[in-house]
Amino acid sequence: MKPLIHVPHASTVIPREVREQFILNDEELTAEAIESADLHTDELARAAWPSARILTANVSRLVVDVERFADDSEEKMANFGRGMVYTATHLGNPLRRKITESEKNCLKLKYYEDHWQKLKQEAKNSVLVDLHSYPKIPWVVEPHRDCYRPEIDIGTDELLSPREWIIEIKSHFEKNGFTVGLNTPYAGVINAGSDFAAMIEIRRDVMSNPSDYPRWGRIVGALATMPMPKFTYPT
Ligand SMILES: [Zn+2]
Repeated sequence: MKPLIHVPHASTVIPREVREQFILNDEELTAEAIESADLHTDELARAAWPSARILTANVSRLVVDVERFADDSEEKMANFGRGMVYTATHLGNPLRRKITESEKNCLKLKYYEDHWQKLKQEAKNSVLVDLHSYPKIPWVVEPHRDCYRPEIDIGTDELLSPREWIIEIKSHFEKNGFTVGLNTPYAGVINAGSDFAAMIEIRRDVMSNPSDYPRWGRIVGALATMPMPKFTYPT
């Protein structure tokens, strides 16, 4: 069973056609897109799993966040202005002008549903690893700001993440010298129809960037050797 690496937040791209929805000036918008992005997680996926299928979202999460529920009533982050369509910056300040239902539907169709169609297709019969990075200091818009922020946070799902596999992953990262938490500060993993799934959130200070050795090499090495489920676990 080949892994599918899902990288939803690496991009900083704001397409020209949606630029005018944002009320920040160019400099502020670029800074917000960079702060909000899980920078280099796409390069990290390619370095750690060169033969895996890797699916990345091709626009910034400020445009549309493919990791959220499309329906705001199901999405708790919508209460913080960070549902499928963001209205707030990471500091909780206004980000976007009010958009119409029809504009929202256009965003959904073009950047959300298109991505999910590919994701569901690729997820069939696969092990999905949802790869993220996250800041050491919590953002204002985070709901669980007091939670423990380990170097590696493994997000799990009751049905998609067999306990035995998650214990193997946890102990793997611990043996590699990382502090590890389960579902803290972020919990869960997306359900795209894969057989197995786990979210890996790497704290940004331990991930750094591709030119920062040995830190970068250490995280690449740990991900490259991360255990994958090789059999069906007892339920
Ligand atoms: Zn992320």
